[in-house]
Amino acid sequence: SEDCFKTNPDYIRSFLFESKLMPSTWIVIRIDGCHFHRFADVHEFNKPNDKQALDLMNLCAVAVLEEFHDIVFCYGVSDEYSFVLKKDSQLYQRRASKIVSAIVSFFSSMYVMKWKDVFWKKELKYPPSFDGRAVCYPSNEILQDYLAWRQVDCHINNQYNTCFWSLVKSGKSKSEAQNYLKGTQACEKNELLLKEFGINYNTLPLMFRQGSSIFRVKRENPTLLENDASSVEKIETKIVTEHCNIIEQSFWEAHPSILN
Ligand code: ATP
Ligand code: ATP
Ligand code: MG
Ligand code: MG
Ligand code: MG
Ligand code: MG
Ligand code: MG
Repeated sequence: SEDCFKTNPDYIRSFLFESKLMPSTWIVIRIDGCHFHRFADVHEFNKPNDKQALDLMNLCAVAVLEEFHDIVFCYGVSDEYSFVLKKDSQLYQRRASKIVSAIVSFFSSMYVMKWKDVFWKKELKYPPSFDGRAVCYPSNEILQDYLAWRQVDCHINNQYNTCFWSLVKSGKSKSEAQNYLKGTQACEKNELLLKEFGINYNTLPLMFRQGSSIFRVKRENPTLLENDASSVEKIETKIVTEHCNIIEQSFWEAHPSILN
């Protein structure tokens, strides 16, 4: 009958187009907090940088790295995180919507679960949400360029925000501060910070200036060595969170196992 035809699974499935991510390319999933300008206001984040909020983002990213074994590198700044999946990952047969939705929902749940670990006395006032997207990068060089782009963005935004909030805290209105900074170069901003506010930009916390990179390192476990364990057990994999320059090639040369 016609009813039977219309509920035939093959007929229903014929409408489904799963976009698959290009094979043998690095997959980057970038998530970003939805309306975090408002979220930061409502939860009274310190300006320009709330250290605890960044710590919370980093804890959630570590949990994502632990959960999704194909992730080899994470880079985070502000309300965003980029997760790099290895080139040959077969997670969800590389279906974009499956990968993005699984990572973004896991991250959001973690953010709520770990809130109290970071903000001891601050109440979570409403549920945060994140959006996510997937992009493929065909070579190590282009992937490194992508990550460098995010770190440059971190630097430029942080320098601007540090000036902006110094001006606002010194009594300027937000629009006055905005006009004051219009068209200023990087060196002029550093000079403003030093001369007007006695802030040496280069001494601000590394996490604010360089964002956070999370990855696995293999190292010998000193406690196991003492107990005369077998050589296999001496190597342990550890997840580290660092605030380092990932634009310079030297980072990738010092950690060759990340992209190999
Ligand atoms: P959208 O939904 O389009 O992403 P948004 O309001 O989240 O909008 P973003 O460009 O993602 O805009 O910027 C995130 C904003 O969240 C920042 O501008 C800043 O106001 C705030 N924010 C995020 N993390 C922190 C933090 N650790 N400390 C202070 N403010 C933060
Ligand atoms: P996948 O990650 O592939 O989705 P899954 O374990 O979530 O794997 P599903 O096909 O989505 O598998 O099925 C969900 C399963 O969750 C059900 O088989 C059932 O065991 C369990 N489940 C979900 N909701 C309920 C419920 N309300 N009561 C009892 N069991 C439930
Ligand atoms: Mg966004
Ligand atoms: Mg956002
Ligand atoms: Mg953002
Ligand atoms: Mg199901
Ligand atoms: Mg299910």
